[in-house]
Amino acid sequence: MKRCPKCNFLNEDFAATCGSCGASFFGPGIIRKFKDPNTNLYAKYALVLGIISIPLIYLCLGWITGATAIAFGIVAKYKIKKSQGTQAGGTMAMIGIVLGIIGVGAAVALLIYAALMTDPVVCRLPESLEIYLNEKGNN
Ligand SMILES: [Zn+2]
Repeated sequence: MKRCPKCNFLNEDFAATCGSCGASFFGPGIIRKFKDPNTNLYAKYALVLGIISIPLIYLCLGWITGATAIAFGIVAKYKIKKSQGTQAGGTMAMIGIVLGIIGVGAAVALLIYAALMTDPVVCRLPESLEIYLNEKGNN
């Protein structure tokens, strides 16, 4: 037996509609009840931007994606909290925030390094890094 969610009438297990009120057991309302909560879009963006910001540290662009990941992560966390369980992705948002902090933190660390060192070239493109390493190897 299955109980109609609308009127509580007990129907046969094979019934597609309620025998009392006619409500469909395959309607969008029923499906929504058993569907997993949607992953918040901002949480997905935060995670992707957070991941991207790690390799971008080498190009001095990690802070841009990092800061955006933090902002999106905070928005996601807020929206998920307000959704009362219909939205998921809290962990995803958190990872995005952490990776974003690493991206921004690395940029700050590189800035401090650049300020302290006489060699101002901190962020090297892969090509210039290769040249740098070759020069080091030749010396
Ligand atoms: Zn019913």
